[in-house]
Amino acid sequence: SKNGGRGQFRFYSSDLKDEEEVRQMMLDDLRIALEEGQLFLHYQPVVSIKTGHVVCLEALMRWEHPDRGFVSPGQFIPVAEDSDLINNLGEWALREACKAALKWPKSVRVAVNVSAVQFANQGFPAVVASVLAHTGIEPDRLELELTESIFVGDSDETERMFKALKDLGVRLALDDFGTGYSSLSYLRAAPFDKIKVDKSFVDSCTQKDKNSAKIIAAIVGLSNALGMETTVEGVEAFDQLEVVKAKGAKLVQGYIYSRPLPEDQVDQHIASGEFT
Ligand code: C2E
Ligand code: CA
Ligand code: CA
Ligand code: CA
Repeated sequence: SKNGGRGQFRFYSSDLKDEEEVRQMMLDDLRIALEEGQLFLHYQPVVSIKTGHVVCLEALMRWEHPDRGFVSPGQFIPVAEDSDLINNLGEWALREACKAALKWPKSVRVAVNVSAVQFANQGFPAVVASVLAHTGIEPDRLELELTESIFVGDSDETERMFKALKDLGVRLALDDFGTGYSSLSYLRAAPFDKIKVDKSFVDSCTQKDKNSAKIIAAIVGLSNALGMETTVEGVEAFDQLEVVKAKGAKLVQGYIYSRPLPEDQVDQHIASGEFT
């Protein structure tokens, strides 16, 4: 089911049986969380393999529930996406991330995840425009991460949305690349600046019997040919980094360089700088 199974509600299911009831309860708690400041963002560096410089930081939402402790975005984002609340969470994240980025060097971008539900909302470009105006951040320092799930809607609508966002000057990244269905047709018309290669390819890229390393090479090649950047996600180990580097990747995001960091640790990491 869309709920991703029972285990997803570990922190909520102990005292309740009905899944829908648990879901509603989490949603109510999330509304309170947003109002009462229980949500915050961590930032994970995207690093240039060659220079060791941080080129971008991806904002990732965190929720510390006063009684239940940390709830992962893999649990609460899908619940928020089943209601209007994702629009509020998304706008909050956009605003917070852009404010944080103002303290970083101008060469460092900030990436923010955008749900397909937000993307389907006609008012979304106005939300982005308002955040740009109020924070004063340079639009090309903001990268919006979209997944293939945005392509389910009407294609004229999708095209209009792309144009409206590109007109604002922000960058667009296609997240979790390779996990969906007809990725190549999406690339034909969509104005992405970057492709993010999904972690699942990296997980098996050191196994000779799998085609993952070759697929990474092909995606990097395709991306280069289309004039896009590529970030390879989820690199944890040195042997994975070696493979990914050999396949032509320039940008890497993964535990090998850094886990997502609290905002106050980001500055010192950038200052001390090098992940080489
Ligand atoms: P994502 O956008 O694909 O983000 C990357 C996820 O991979 C993050 O998990 C990150 O912590 C994790 N990751 C990065 N490098 C490694 C690695 O080397 N090893 C392993 N094992 N994991 C790594 P996280 O923070 O739990 O987020 C999960 C998902 O929740 C995100 O996947 C994204 O789909 C969603 N999400 C998080 N924050 C937001 C948000 O503000 N808005 C929306 N719409 N979705 C969000
Ligand atoms: Ca992402
Ligand atoms: Ca991803
Ligand atoms: Ca993902």
